[in-house]
Amino acid sequence: MTELDVKEIVASGCLQKMATEPGSPALGSPAQYTLRAGEQRLALNKYLGRSLQLEWTGAIACTHCGRATRKSFGQGYCYPCFKGLAQCDTCIMKPELCHFHVGTCREPDWGLRFCFQPHIIYLANSSGLKVGITRATQMPTRWLDQGAIQALPILAVDTRLQSGLVEVLFKQLVSDRTNWRAMLKGEVAELDLAAERDRLLGEMSDGLDELRQRFGEQAIRELDEVAQQFEYPVLEYPTKVTSHNLDKTPRVGGRLMGIKGQYLIFDTGVINLRKYTGYEIRLTV
Ligand SMILES: [Zn+2]
Repeated sequence: MTELDVKEIVASGCLQKMATEPGSPALGSPAQYTLRAGEQRLALNKYLGRSLQLEWTGAIACTHCGRATRKSFGQGYCYPCFKGLAQCDTCIMKPELCHFHVGTCREPDWGLRFCFQPHIIYLANSSGLKVGITRATQMPTRWLDQGAIQALPILAVDTRLQSGLVEVLFKQLVSDRTNWRAMLKGEVAELDLAAERDRLLGEMSDGLDELRQRFGEQAIRELDEVAQQFEYPVLEYPTKVTSHNLDKTPRVGGRLMGIKGQYLIFDTGVINLRKYTGYEIRLTV
């Protein structure tokens, strides 16, 4: 065995979403990523340019209850949790369908804590202009997870339901999706988000007034914030995006060329780590 064959395990355990910090783009410092596997934490930026291997052991543990599951549902849950938890219900992805008021919330206590608290409607630029919603406490994590290069909070509301209804209005004019291939190719032009906000609020004023009549004049508040900018640790963007799939190929890797959103960009292809939440992995150098 030559020295090159010796692999060092730098992290092992069940994957969670990477933790992110925005860094200081103005000072040339990009977003900072931390891989989370089980109890282990690994600062990833320093591995840029190095060869890394990611291997799935074949085991998956539910991210909520820890029980072993052969398949992952809803990015990291066992089937009973996926069917039983409020956080896995359709109304989390589509808050306008919130059914708390009819008494059918899967977990009313959880609903009270997570859905009945301030939410923000924002504009972001991940692969072009998009609208989105998030709990106020999730900024700027939410934007970094999407690989946004710019983001601007535009409205604050009191509940998740209200944020969903506002988003439905905006979706008539703006996408709520990220084109992840374009995001990963880095082909994203800067936008004037403040100008987009002013234009959209103007066009949406009738719809917003209707919601204010329903929920109260103070329920939907315009924010006067400055757009935030984000940069990512990327040595070189891929010209063609191919994605790795641990279910088909349990051992992937290559030279780490970048990290953006929840993706690792290898010279051999990209992998969306969030998709493998709960997968037991070994990361070796
Ligand atoms: Zn579970």
